[in-house]
Formats: sequence, structure tokens, C-alpha cells
Amino acid sequence: VDQVDGNFVRAVRNCVFSKSIPTPLKGPLRLAAVSKDVIEGILDLDAAVTQSEDFLLYVSGARLMPGSVPLAHRYGGHQFGYWAGQLGDGRAHFLGQYTNRKGEIWDLQLKGSGKTPYSRSGDGRAVIRSSVREFLCSEAMHSLGVPTSRAASLVVSKEPVLRDQFYNGNVKTERGAVVLRLAKSWFRIGSLEILSRTGEIDLLRKLLNFVIEEHFPSISSDDPDKYLVLYATIVNETAHLIASWMSVGFAHGVCNTDNFSLLSITIDYGPFGFMESYDPNFVPNTSDDEGRYSIGAQANVGLFNLEKLLEALSPVFTPKQQQGAQHILKGYADIYQMRCHQMFKAKLGLLGEEEDDGYLIAFLLKMMEDTQSDFTMTFRQLSEASAQQLRDRDFTQMWALDDLSSHKLFSRWLSMYLLRLGSQENDRDVDRQQRMKNVNPRYVLRNWMAESAVRKAEVDDFSEVELLHRVLSVPFVTQETAEEAGYAARPPSWAKRLKVSCSS
Ligand code: AMP
Ligand code: MG
Ligand code: MG
Repeated sequence: VDQVDGNFVRAVRNCVFSKSIPTPLKGPLRLAAVSKDVIEGILDLDAAVTQSEDFLLYVSGARLMPGSVPLAHRYGGHQFGYWAGQLGDGRAHFLGQYTNRKGEIWDLQLKGSGKTPYSRSGDGRAVIRSSVREFLCSEAMHSLGVPTSRAASLVVSKEPVLRDQFYNGNVKTERGAVVLRLAKSWFRIGSLEILSRTGEIDLLRKLLNFVIEEHFPSISSDDPDKYLVLYATIVNETAHLIASWMSVGFAHGVCNTDNFSLLSITIDYGPFGFMESYDPNFVPNTSDDEGRYSIGAQANVGLFNLEKLLEALSPVFTPKQQQGAQHILKGYADIYQMRCHQMFKAKLGLLGEEEDDGYLIAFLLKMMEDTQSDFTMTFRQLSEASAQQLRDRDFTQMWALDDLSSHKLFSRWLSMYLLRLGSQENDRDVDRQQRMKNVNPRYVLRNWMAESAVRKAEVDDFSEVELLHRVLSVPFVTQETAEEAGYAARPPSWAKRLKVSCSS
């Protein structure tokens, strides 16, 4: 830990954390949302305590646990392909660890809680807009089965925060908010990169040993190849993470190395987006002019980030281990492909492995691209339709399949698909449907849905935050209220004009 005190911006050396006290948001504060799942299931608290004034003070950064020494983490990173030097937690405070009754260890962090030594030119704040999005999306991703950080609470204030919303010079006053977020660890590729780049190799080793001991219990601390095994694990898990993003049409938006977790969980929700019309070139972040982080580029960006991780680890590798690591990295593409293939096969309800399965998947995606079919609802409606309905092309109320079926090759694909399903012995159609419904969500956090909740939240109406939180916690279950809100309907026309930028 940095021995220099105070939240003034500086270049920090030879440490992993700096002490930093949160700057509480100016009141009046309001607890806008809580995740009961996190409060009860992770933090072992009774949800009733969230109604107390004490709770509000703790989760907004106004009060600290006795003995707690809040920290800001020092990290660096490659941003949009280039080494950006020291970044660090510019508006986040690590409050401490909690070991829950299941024996899990969770790191609690506030985001939006004021300046730290790493704030650079930032104000240390987060606005309601981005905080609602982070709160909702981290919980929604968890419910989709995607590895992710979690969100416990969202506090909003009336403290004015200036934001250049679309980076077009129009400065707008927004309101400050704080999210209490949790992860097993917040360490990133950039956590190692900064130490490696500045030649702080003893500290790099110390951090690596700590990460292995705390989070990778299957790696023995006496194993001379432990860093190599760690690398292999992260390569494997990162491939899995990106495949699971692809399986739900999630584009992170800012896949810089400082936003890529060493535990391969989704972290740092910013200008993310769920793809609506299927399009590999979908870019959620309007500030990403070149589409570096388009949805279809994520697998390759993962490779780039793992290369950077390899570079960061080079000082602790022997020449032989360095070669081994390069070999491991070469295997990344295959791991990713295999995982993606498995996930899309499951999305189509396919059992076993047939030679043409890859073709069947690619053919469908190409038709979806040509017809701009909705990614989520196409798979969902393929799950909801019975084989008989598919055979009859009875797509009443099935708007996504209706779009898809306008493709001139749809009949050909459908025959192949039905033949493939028909060849699955002992697989009843209802079982196939149930299996598919369990992996193809009906509801994802579409931008327009988040935007609608944000607009209300900005005028202190949190009803839609709550509704979305509830619906997205069971995204595979059809629900009346979600239907009424149009969450499974064709997106409204204004959705197409929506933009999300890095400003948050
Ligand atoms: P991001 O692009 O959100 O991953 O952020 C990149 C870096 O900028 C991280 O070090 C953040 O902590 C920092 N940062 C972003 N917004 C702010 C802000 N408003 N105040 C201080 N630091 C910020
Ligand atoms: Mg930890
Ligand atoms: Mg970040």
C-alpha cells in the first residue's frame, strides 16, 4: 500500500493500492435499488436492513466499517490498442473483503465515490445513467449465467455532476450516484501490466502469488510452473467468457486490458450493448469510431489482451515457459471456437455432434444477418415454437421468426434443422423446447429498456429499474408484466436512434 496520503492525482510507484477515503455524495441521498439476491445470498444480511439510515450511509461511502481502510487500486492498461500508462481506480474504492457463510470471499467496492490518486482529469463521480446501467446489467448477466461482477445497491443524490454526454461539446448537468459492487476479485490484466512495465518485478511476483493463493486453489504454490498454469487458466477462461458473451449477443464496448479481469468475469460496465438485429459489426459505443470493439471483434480482442497478459508475465517466465505460454496462446482460437460451437448447438437444441452442425449454425446466422432478425428473439422463438409449428411455418405472434422466414433460403435451412432434430432419438419435442428455453433468454437488457428506466430514474421514479431488475433476474421465464412493458416485443422505433458513449 502506497504510504503517501491524500487523494491528489499522482504517479504512484511500488505499490498495488493507495489508501483513499471516499468523498460522500452531497445529500439528500436516496437508496434507489438493491439486489436482494446479493444482500441476502452473498452478504448474509436480512433485506430489511437496507431500509435503515445506516445502510444508506455505508453504501454511499458516507460511513466506513470500523477498522476499514478503503483503497484505490493501481493499474495500467492498453486502451484501444495502445499502452496508456497508469490508470487505476479513478472513482472506485475498495472497502474490504467479506467472507460469507458459504465460505466465499467477496471484495466490496464503491463506484462513483470520489477522487483518488488515480482520478487523472476525472471528477471521481458516476452519474445516474451509467450507474443504473451497471446495476441492472451486472445482475442481468449473472442471471443469464455469464460470469460477472455483481451489484448490491444503487444510491442516487442531487449532487450535480457535469458530463459531456455524447462527446460533442454539449455539457449537461446530471446527478451523481454510487453503486456498491462486488467481485471475488477486481484484479485486471492491467494490474499486472503496470508492475511489469515499470520493472517492479518483485511486486509483480508478490501480486501473482497472492492472486494464485486466493483465487486459484488448484494451482500449487510450490509448482515451478505456477505462473504458466495461471496463464493457461486465464486463456481458457477468457475464451469461455467471450463465447458466453456471444451466446447472449453482449458487446462489452470497451475491451481494454484494464477492463479484462484476471478471473475472467465481466467487469466495468460502460457503453455496453445487447445486439438486437443480428450484425457482427454491431458497435455499442458511439465513441468507438473504428469499431475496434464491435461484437464480432471481441474474440480477437481477447487474443490481443491475452498477448498483453503474456507480455506482462514475461519477466517471471523462464525462456522455456515463455515458449510454453506462446504455445498456450496459440490454442486460444480453438478453445473459443469449440466453446462457441457448443453454446450455439445448445441454443438450437442439438444433442450429440453431427458433421453439419457448424454449417447449420453458420447458415442460420447468415440468414439472420441478411434479414436483420433480432438475435435474442429468433433463438427464443425457435425454442418456443413446436416442431409442428415450424413445419407449418405458423409464426403468428412470432415476429422474429416471421422476419427470418422472409429469407429465400429459409425453407432449405428449416428442412435441414427439422431433419437434424428428428434424428435425435428419445428426444421429445417438449424436452427440446424446454432445453432451448433454458438457454435462450426471452429478456435481455436492451438499450431502449435501460434508457427508459434511466429517464424515469432521473426524475426519481425507480419503478422501471425495479421492474427490469425483477424481470431480468429470471430472463428465461415468460412473465405478464414484462410482456405488458413490451420487453419481448419488437423494439420501439425510437430505440434505433439511441446512442451510448464512454461518458459516464
Ligand atoms: P473506463 O473506460 O471506464 O474503464 O475508465 C478508464 C479509467 O478512467 C479508469 O482508470 C477509471 O477509473 C477512470 N475514470 C473514468 N471515469 C472517471 C471519472 N469520472 N473520474 C475519475 N476517473 C475516472
Ligand atoms: Mg481478492
Ligand atoms: Mg474500467
